[in-house]
Amino acid sequence: MTVSDLLLDLLRRAEADLPGVEILTADEVSPWPASALEAIVQSGLLSPTTPGASVLCDACLEDHWQQVEFVESPAGAPRAYIVCPEAGRVAVDTARLNRWRVNLTGLAGVLGQLLGCREAPDELVASRLWRLGTTELSGESRDVLLVRGPTWPNAGEALRLEQRLSRTASSLLLTLVEIIADPPTRTSVVPLTRVLSLAHNGLSLDLSYIEAVLASQADRSLGEPYTFRKQGEYWAIRYEGAQFNLPNLKGLRYIACLLATPGGQFHVLELVSRVEGRAPGTLLTLSDLPETSLRVEGLRQEDDLLDKNARAEYRHRLADLRQKKSLGEDELEEKRWLESQLQAATGLRGRPRKVASQAEKARVNVTNLVRSARRKIDVQDPALAIFLKNSIKTGLSCSYIPDRPITWAVSF
Ligand SMILES: [Zn+2]
Repeated sequence: MTVSDLLLDLLRRAEADLPGVEILTADEVSPWPASALEAIVQSGLLSPTTPGASVLCDACLEDHWQQVEFVESPAGAPRAYIVCPEAGRVAVDTARLNRWRVNLTGLAGVLGQLLGCREAPDELVASRLWRLGTTELSGESRDVLLVRGPTWPNAGEALRLEQRLSRTASSLLLTLVEIIADPPTRTSVVPLTRVLSLAHNGLSLDLSYIEAVLASQADRSLGEPYTFRKQGEYWAIRYEGAQFNLPNLKGLRYIACLLATPGGQFHVLELVSRVEGRAPGTLLTLSDLPETSLRVEGLRQEDDLLDKNARAEYRHRLADLRQKKSLGEDELEEKRWLESQLQAATGLRGRPRKVASQAEKARVNVTNLVRSARRKIDVQDPALAIFLKNSIKTGLSCSYIPDRPITWAVSF
């Protein structure tokens, strides 16, 4: 066992709802790596406590605990022994009677210091709940509490957590182990097993992990449980509380565009032009298309697919991409897309082709992009992938029709 394994083990042990579980005997700590006991005692998590009165007999094969007896002989040098039914009188090293207890109040004090809390910790419920004080984290003043046994059967009545958590300020609730529970409003829960470690100079906390948890809680309280946002090179996606990031993929932009308009129907060409950031009419000559007409037959057959300017721009961008030595996934996708656009637009011998085939290309392209983005989502959040599969339709007409009203925070 490494020292960090020991630390995790002590935290799990302290969370167990068993009488005496917080006491460690000398026999239990003797297999620990040298200096581990000293380091953990130094950290404040373990404290020496009253010596034990009995030990496990090590002179026979029966597992029996025996009360330790003392003799004052010679005077001033007491010797300890137990009486074993098989082996008779067995000498006991008195060091085996030493015991330590998990000291959560000591831990609370150390945690308060590591978090920069201004006050000394206050034990609100004996051996169960400590207020570490307030501290500045992620730019906000936080009330910090340490709790043991928030899922024990008597937790509700013994801890009255809901009432103790501040209603006005955000709270940070430290638990000993990972506990799956709905945190109260404006409360971020961080298990010490995730953030606490023992270094040569004592306990330390992974503050960046804590800040990340606080930041995601802040997003939640902004009322954005459903998020589909492009942030720099990444997408931040959240659905029903689960949050993950994905690298930039074009298919995600199509999904985002559809999510932004629940119940709306787009002709696939209109969707493409929206996602490409062009108003209808620049990418395609759609200006004559009536709002209500979603059918490709609604387009005038003589309309060129791309106007001259767009064609030139696409060729220019494509030449750039072709000159690059290596392309990222998104660039490869863009290159294929540009090629298909230009090919569709010009056909054989560079003669502009007509809208119908362009729409067909777009239909296939958009369908594939959305499908491959959904596969990437499926790896992270299968429930969201299923939701998107059921609510998003791609084809000549594209739509997002959810089975329940959901407000997505979207940017793309
Ligand atoms: Zn024995």
